[in-house]
Amino acid sequence: MLDSFESAGLGWFWSTDAQGRITYLSDSAIERLGWAEEDVLGAELGDLFELENDEGDEAGNRGARPISFLLRSRNSISNLTVRPVDASSEVWLQLAGKPRFDKAGRFLGYRGSANDYTDTRNREREATRLSQFDPLTGLANRHRIRTRLSKALGQNRNMKRNCSVLLLGLDRFKHINDSLGHQSGDELLKQVAARLKRLIDERGEVARLSGDEFLVTLPDVDDRGDLGELANQIIQMISQPYSVGGSRAIVGTSIGIASAPYDGIDTDELLKAADLALNAAKQTRASYRFYSSELKDGAKRRREIEEDLRDAIGRNELAMHYQPIVDASTHKLKCLEALMRWEHPVRGSVSPGLFIPIAEEVGLIKLLGEWALGEACRQACEWPSELRVAVNVSAVQFMAGDFPKVVENALQATGIAPSRLELEITESVFMGDPMQAQRIFGELKALGVRLALDDFGTGYSSLSYLRNAPFNKIKIDQSFVRGSTERDNNNSAIISSIVSLAQALRMETVAEGVETKDELELVTKLGASSLQGRLFSFAVSQEELLEYIGEGSLTYEPRGPERYRADRRTEFRRIGLVHDDHRYSVVLRNLSKTGALVEGLMDVPVGTQIVLDLGGGQLAVATVRRSSGFSQGVEFETPLISDGADGLCTRHRVSPYHIEAAGKPLASLPDDPFAVLRGAKPGTEPQIKPRAFRQADLSGHKACAA
Ligand code: C2E
Ligand code: CA
Ligand code: CA
Repeated sequence: MLDSFESAGLGWFWSTDAQGRITYLSDSAIERLGWAEEDVLGAELGDLFELENDEGDEAGNRGARPISFLLRSRNSISNLTVRPVDASSEVWLQLAGKPRFDKAGRFLGYRGSANDYTDTRNREREATRLSQFDPLTGLANRHRIRTRLSKALGQNRNMKRNCSVLLLGLDRFKHINDSLGHQSGDELLKQVAARLKRLIDERGEVARLSGDEFLVTLPDVDDRGDLGELANQIIQMISQPYSVGGSRAIVGTSIGIASAPYDGIDTDELLKAADLALNAAKQTRASYRFYSSELKDGAKRRREIEEDLRDAIGRNELAMHYQPIVDASTHKLKCLEALMRWEHPVRGSVSPGLFIPIAEEVGLIKLLGEWALGEACRQACEWPSELRVAVNVSAVQFMAGDFPKVVENALQATGIAPSRLELEITESVFMGDPMQAQRIFGELKALGVRLALDDFGTGYSSLSYLRNAPFNKIKIDQSFVRGSTERDNNNSAIISSIVSLAQALRMETVAEGVETKDELELVTKLGASSLQGRLFSFAVSQEELLEYIGEGSLTYEPRGPERYRADRRTEFRRIGLVHDDHRYSVVLRNLSKTGALVEGLMDVPVGTQIVLDLGGGQLAVATVRRSSGFSQGVEFETPLISDGADGLCTRHRVSPYHIEAAGKPLASLPDDPFAVLRGAKPGTEPQIKPRAFRQADLSGHKACAA
């Protein structure tokens, strides 16, 4: 019976001697494995076969637990999945066996059965693969990456290791799906996945969490310099154009970054933190943000604003204000930019820089935008007819298919001449479907309205945008105007090249945000054709504007400071100061683009190089310029970049080189009070006792950290 069982290929038999050497293996098994009998008999079982590793993972190290070790225990074995060590062909066996003993209890070896497990195993693995991997991109799916992350975090806790996650959200992917079709959308996702995988390679794992969300996990990385560097690489790589289904498509990505154990100790906490950081990053498209505890409060505030915004139109809380744009040579009023204002019953006036991005995200922008357009056209009809009105149009609103119709309705309803209406659009409209954008531009031109490219220089600033779209005007972003008069600053060269580019294309230029007389002098000299900024006027209400116009004068007198001075902002918050191997907690008293005043350290010598950790991932290398008692005035090595809307200085990045210049990388600072605090549960505030002093040595000088 056994013979016929064996020869029918239903199963195989094997046996070993007391030393684990093979004394028998069915002929058909030897044949299946592609071996010769003399190679098998007498060889140790453990030398010929290896075990499947724990993870069942091809990439793992094979045969981590040797078979001989298992057999030495002399226990029965069953369902042991093994394969030949010299895996020339992919054959898997499943072994079962029992130890044999003689009457005296001496071990004689094993005797057992085996069967060909290859097909079953492949089927099982395929099923696992399907349940663990995203079928479209082949990347790990949400389920798998969560399991692997939880396991890694669990191990890390014991071993005091760290791990970072980068959560990517593609910008404007939905738009590609809608306009080019799902097949093209799928194709694009595949290409995004391939690019990501190539870039991350062995450094970590890449997963697709949902439609347009990807996750990168990076074990043993928490240096913000390195993480920022990588995030930048990812953003640049993903923003390169794609060719899908014969069309060219562009997407961007925003990235939220969180590191364990600082920002969260388990998977849920860490992913939640990365998600908050991603949302913050999305507000400044195609950028990255580190998680910080302020984001948690920010998220709550956003939700409240969203709720209130839904009612704002109905409650008459919105108004349009108008900021003059004047001719550069005569300072005569030519155009007014309509800027939305929200008078919230409790919060007071809320900045459009804050509520417009929320409106875009939650789909309220269409409603707000239509209202703004109608209101601005209506009010402009009350002005002298030579004055134009410029209305801001968000990219989301612009790309909605019926936008030209909305404009046409506004023109018809108010009877305003189309040539008096100017639409301000930013470059982000080119990020989705270029064909759709082209069509909309065409329809708008046919209506006879004018188009202005807003915030030029802050986005991709691609020349092809200017070639393909019929703009009448380029608005030079205020970040180039601000501080353009300072030494060692490229801004004036940038302004001058934008101006000559615009002249060559027969477009007007507006220099935005002119605040001081020296800026006025410079942008006039550089050839900007129109000017806008508080030097001439803030945005004013319709009543104030009509009053001014009623006085008969349409010329504005520049009124303001002579010189640009980096704005000093009063602050009172605790930040980190790093010097050499120490991290101190200090109080930030004021902050400008070029420097800060900090308190808390005693007698720090002038000239000391430090790094300020301003929170939220902003690090700034600085030098102490003034020092008296507890307070120090420091100057930044490179000026901070302002986010504009709220005047907060963000988006400042320091390369690892810079961080190293002031000591060790931040991430590797030895245990000090701060390190302990960072390890504490996220969200809890540092407990610093008042008037508790810690002696520390700062470059040989006595210092106290309060
Ligand atoms: P923007 O289109 O770049 O508008 C110019 C912003 O710069 C306005 O801020 C304006 O008040 C401010 N500004 C003008 N002159 C100066 C100056 O000399 N110095 C400084 N520091 N700032 C100056 P605002 O009104 O807070 O608007 C912020 C942004 O909100 C706008 O940026 C625009 O992107 C958006 N926005 C405003 N109203 C609307 C709207 O009706 N629809 C849409 N879609 N977006 C709007
Ligand atoms: Ca604008
Ligand atoms: Ca602008």
